[in-house]
Amino acid sequence: QTFERIEKIDGKVGSFVYLRKEKAIEEAKKLDERIAKGEKVGVLAGIPVAIKDNMVSNGDITTACSKILGKYEGVYDATAVKKLKEADAIIIGATNMDEFAMGSTTKTSTHHLTKNPWDIQKVPGGSSGGAAASIASQEVYLSLGSDTGGSIRQPASFCGVVGLKPTYGRVSRYGLIAFASSLDQIGPIAKSVEDIALCMNVISGEDDYDATVSSKEVPDYTKYLNQDIKGMKIGVPKEYFIDGINPGVKKVVEESLEKFKKLGAEIVEVSLPHTKYAVPTYYVIAPAEASSNLARFDGVRYGYRSENVENIEDLYVNSRTEGFGDEVKRRIMIGTYVLSAGFYDAYFKKAQKVRALIKEDFDKVFENVDVILTPVCPNTAFKLDDKKTPIELYLEDIFTISANLAGIPGLSIPAGKSEGMPVGIQLLGKAFGEEELIKAGSAFEK
Ligand code: GLN
Repeated sequence: QTFERIEKIDGKVGSFVYLRKEKAIEEAKKLDERIAKGEKVGVLAGIPVAIKDNMVSNGDITTACSKILGKYEGVYDATAVKKLKEADAIIIGATNMDEFAMGSTTKTSTHHLTKNPWDIQKVPGGSSGGAAASIASQEVYLSLGSDTGGSIRQPASFCGVVGLKPTYGRVSRYGLIAFASSLDQIGPIAKSVEDIALCMNVISGEDDYDATVSSKEVPDYTKYLNQDIKGMKIGVPKEYFIDGINPGVKKVVEESLEKFKKLGAEIVEVSLPHTKYAVPTYYVIAPAEASSNLARFDGVRYGYRSENVENIEDLYVNSRTEGFGDEVKRRIMIGTYVLSAGFYDAYFKKAQKVRALIKEDFDKVFENVDVILTPVCPNTAFKLDDKKTPIELYLEDIFTISANLAGIPGLSIPAGKSEGMPVGIQLLGKAFGEEELIKAGSAFEK
């Protein structure tokens, strides 16, 4: 059924770049046999799940939507993928994304465009655009995305679905093709907060293969569904209501605050004074880490190799020149520049200091509130043919990137519409405070 639906719809939407049809059907049959025999099966038994094309799955093609990976085949399972398989979920295929997860439109993918299921003239957001579109168009029930600066939350908002970026260190990054290792985090995109909670129960927790994963116990997130939120304190940062924000988005956020008040929550104005430095800080740190992570793509070890070579230097240079797209090259150049001997102190080191200040802002606010509510993005989904400059696109990340810099969790949840397009609100929590987000999100969703 899942594949019938995908075959019917995906020509229009373009969520997927790779389908595991035969393997998935085979696995589903085996699962049926186990159920028929009365064997115990996992909590996600038979649930069709899609994974973003930057997570490896043993024997399946993974390209990070870049030409440089060619037809690279995973030789092991990413931990999050392995945990899904152990819970008996059926992995359907890989979803489209911006090349190496760099972008907010899914347009920089080497494969094809993904269209917003609500209006196919518009982008689904990015970089996990295929993941969000696969949920919005009801091709699958659960998708894994990755979020370095908003790549789960922003496409979820643009497509009217729910997305969670977990706390840094909650979900293993093992097997995730790295963009910026200190910011990257895998998380779920789904139709409801309940599905998000179920998925988090499965994918969270310790992993011997990722030293940055916390050994903190994983709570049962489903316990926080359908709870009373009377007395919950919700902070609203004044710095997030900037001039550039679309009036339709602002209206939805205001209506959401009203709804939370009716549910018994207390709304308090808070201040995150370093918010204005978040975009420049992120666009120094993320490219710096990316330039280092992407050094491994040398034309020798993975996928694509230039044919036009006479010596080893040519092999590196030509493979990289031909294999990486413009946005990726732009980030590598920014990254190597801010890390270079003469500029390290002025850019990278300074950005690290500002990052600490941004984190302190959140620590202070969370002394007094349970969650923070903000818009996800200043605008709704852009037109596919909208020619925004890179800087204009970077500025759109203003509301999502602080959570990555501070390492805290963020939930994007549909809250209304503006001119027919979905608008999400973002709930931010303290580190390892996913429970509060699920509690608030679930109450709001009702
Ligand atoms: N839009 C941001 C960027 O381009 C976020 C990307 C992400 O979270 N992977 O870097």
